[in-house]
Amino acid sequence: MVQLHQKHIPVHIRCQVCAIADESIYHALVGCYFAVQCWKTWDPGIQINEEMEFNVWLEGSLNVKTKKQRAEIVTLCWAIWLARNEVVWNKKAMMVNRVDAGAKEYLTQWNEAQVKSFKVSLQPWADGDGVVSWVKPQQNS
Ligand SMILES: [Zn+2]
Repeated sequence: MVQLHQKHIPVHIRCQVCAIADESIYHALVGCYFAVQCWKTWDPGIQINEEMEFNVWLEGSLNVKTKKQRAEIVTLCWAIWLARNEVVWNKKAMMVNRVDAGAKEYLTQWNEAQVKSFKVSLQPWADGDGVVSWVKPQQNS
């Protein structure tokens, strides 16, 4: 909302979850009380500071973590964003355990997808494999 307001879009910039602070990206994904509860549940070792630029926070958080922790940080940001959208657009209650479970499930599926190897056939189509090719029509004589 803060970003929209800066672009002169007439919106209320107050956070729709807590109604205490302005809804910056950092506040929505890290500093809002709901986000703080989610981060405490996961505890990937991030710092939660006073209001700051999200990109500065993210860069600092990702630079000093392991690959596993970086994946957790990005996944939890995504899960918190989805939960906030459910509040704003569908008027659903935000529940930390639901965000926690959804993020862990998503991360598990993502990790499993990373280790599976897919063998792609590089062989060209062969005669008789069912492929129909375009054929130049015969000219009328
Ligand atoms: Zn808030």
